[in-house]
Amino acid sequence: MHQRVLVIGGGITGLAAAHHLLSDHPEYAVTLVERDTRLGGKILTVEQDGYVIEGGPDSMLDVKPRGVGLSREIGLGDRLLSPTEATRRSFVLRKGKLHRIPEGLTGLVPTKLGPIARSGLISPRGKARMLGDYLRRPAAGDEDESLAAFMTRRLGDEVYTNLIEPLMAGIYAGDGRALSLEATFPQLREAELKHGSLIKGVLAQRQKAEAQSGGNGAKRPGFVTYDTGLRELVDTLADRITAQGGEIRTGVAVSLLERCQHGYRVTIDRDDGPETMRVDGIILATQAWAAAPLLEPLDHRASAALDHIPHVSNAIVALGFDDPTVAERLNGFGYVVPRTEHRPVMAMTWLSSKWTGRAPEGKALIRAFVGRAGQQDILQCPDDTLIDVVRKELSEVLGITAKPEIARIFHWDGGMPQYTMGHRERVASLETALGGISGVAVAGNMIRGVGLPDCIASGESAADKVVGDLAGVEEVATASVR
Ligand SMILES: Cc1cc2nc3c(=O)[nH]c(=O)nc-3n(C[C@H](O)[C@H](O)[C@H](O)COP(=O)(O)OP(=O)(O)OC[C@H]3O[C@@H](n4cnc5c(N)ncnc54)[C@H](O)[C@@H]3O)c2cc1C
Repeated sequence: MHQRVLVIGGGITGLAAAHHLLSDHPEYAVTLVERDTRLGGKILTVEQDGYVIEGGPDSMLDVKPRGVGLSREIGLGDRLLSPTEATRRSFVLRKGKLHRIPEGLTGLVPTKLGPIARSGLISPRGKARMLGDYLRRPAAGDEDESLAAFMTRRLGDEVYTNLIEPLMAGIYAGDGRALSLEATFPQLREAELKHGSLIKGVLAQRQKAEAQSGGNGAKRPGFVTYDTGLRELVDTLADRITAQGGEIRTGVAVSLLERCQHGYRVTIDRDDGPETMRVDGIILATQAWAAAPLLEPLDHRASAALDHIPHVSNAIVALGFDDPTVAERLNGFGYVVPRTEHRPVMAMTWLSSKWTGRAPEGKALIRAFVGRAGQQDILQCPDDTLIDVVRKELSEVLGITAKPEIARIFHWDGGMPQYTMGHRERVASLETALGGISGVAVAGNMIRGVGLPDCIASGESAADKVVGDLAGVEEVATASVR
């Protein structure tokens, strides 16, 4: 009998999981169910009047293997697009002035002293304190600490506040004082312990990674997307899943999971009433807060672990300008803003300067992030107010007063999981509990990384767990027949 597996959630995690299941086991009957009427979850590429607007992620890290790896496997290798080399520069907004982010950051850590020495972002005193990293002994003990505490201890308050915090906020929209070092950047503590200095350790890790990949260090790690936006990844995966015999259903939500005599009974809410189906395996690839109530009838501990992962909301405000003077001013990829600046915009990406093909010739497209941890009130403002906030920011920072010809706002309520202190224990508790629920796995951005490549890896590993569990059940069944 063919195994029947249900994937709940049609974001990148669920799509990657369903694709992986069918690639390895074409004989499985795989159904993917998505609550929304479209696939992609947070990947939301919109085309409007010649603009290509990303309402969620705009790219993915190329050094994390499963983003580029999966792209190549599904025939998108030639569609990968790197940022425009000529405008490769990003900034930090400090006291109303844009400072270029110094060259030579490895991850979040400055490893080239020349560019830091020349940067006006850090005072001479702050630079001297950063160099103390070479002399300062590693902290004893194996207690986790917050990202802010670790970075301040190693590199000083100023480097953390003016450089590392805004870069980190661009990934998690979080507060470094609450985020766990072990859960967010465990390699940094390893670097400290192994090399006695964070800067030395991070450099050594980078050299090792380059040597292992056979690289000569010529290509800088960076971000990639596709020629016409991240939607290409979603569309191609969906096509592959259906071509391999998988079923995709959108606009329907799973509302209940229960154990039954053989496997699980699933209730799906449809417009014309509930529908039930029996499955052997389930992959929950929803947001943590959506998976928690679904898991409750199967295992309280797994459900509680997910329920305790906090999330912050944020919004993207995208503006398009039919004004060549705007395009001229956007000479770079954009900027990030330290929390201590107390500004409503957390970061801004100059999409038409960063990527080719994002705005019609002579026009410009920007997007601003609002709503970091601790600054959630702004998200209650009406959309017109958010647009005004971003226009004011453009005027103050870049002197841009032109009226946008298009404006789009994308709200992500509870969109960003926060890996706060204790996150590793919550994940361990979740995984221990799931170990006891045969055929059920949880995947997504709430476990070991929020980036798209992490989500893909998480979906694929959930698929492997379900396959392993089902193979075990089949073996037991075969043995008992014999
Ligand atoms: C504004 C923003 C910018 C970002 N920028 C980047 C970036 O540039 N690069 C990067 O790598 N990452 C970025 N991220 C992070 C990344 O986009 C996400 O971590 C990732 O897309 C999450 O994918 P997912 O499939 O795990 O979850 P989601 O995309 O949230 O998908 C989960 C899906 O499950 C569905 N669902 C929920 N409950 C049910 C149910 N009961 N039944 C059926 N379906 C259900 C939901 O409708 C949703 O579609 C960004 C995130 C945000 C919010």
